[in-house]
Amino acid sequence: MTTITLSFDNGPDPDTTPAVLDTLARHDIRSTFFVLGDKLRDRRAIAERAHEEGHWVGNHTFNHIVPLGMSSIEGISTSEIARTQDLIGDLAHPRRFFRPFGGGGILNDNLLNREALRYLMEGGFTCVLWNVIPEDWIYPQGWVERALTLCFQRPHALIVLHDLPTGAMTSLDRFVRTARDRGARFEQDFPRDCVPLERGELVSPMESYVTDASA
Ligand SMILES: [Zn+2]
Repeated sequence: MTTITLSFDNGPDPDTTPAVLDTLARHDIRSTFFVLGDKLRDRRAIAERAHEEGHWVGNHTFNHIVPLGMSSIEGISTSEIARTQDLIGDLAHPRRFFRPFGGGGILNDNLLNREALRYLMEGGFTCVLWNVIPEDWIYPQGWVERALTLCFQRPHALIVLHDLPTGAMTSLDRFVRTARDRGARFEQDFPRDCVPLERGELVSPMESYVTDASA
């Protein structure tokens, strides 16, 4: 049996995120929203609604422009994480979820630099990666079949989707119904192998996600 965990990155978006929340509520599914500080500033009510409805709110950097592993300017990583966490405030989960980003969803050493990893460890953060990238931003309709194929190849899938106005989220309902029809169950918590750092403690090696450029 396949378990699926949904996550939504790069929001909140004023139109898309409420529609995603409606869909998830209709299906009684809880997920995690990895938000950008820069968007959260003016749209906190959306994240508050997500939190009230049982979803988790995680940190996905402030402006999402340069992957932290590609940034060598001292202080940038700290600022990208800290400013966003301040804005999340009391909407944060006690595990303090943080998800890095890299180009095209590839898990490599672009994700973090030394400063970022140190900050996450000292700050008691939980680093949440992923194992299914259906590229909804490239295939606003076709992501559904891609995601289904990828999910059913593993016991516990953690999907990255984007609550952005690409049109992709209009197919979320179809994805959920089809996955359930095929026997999947939905769970909020993440597969363990996608969480190398738990409340600041390393639970699996992170060297491959950390560049040495700013060591
Ligand atoms: Zn992202």
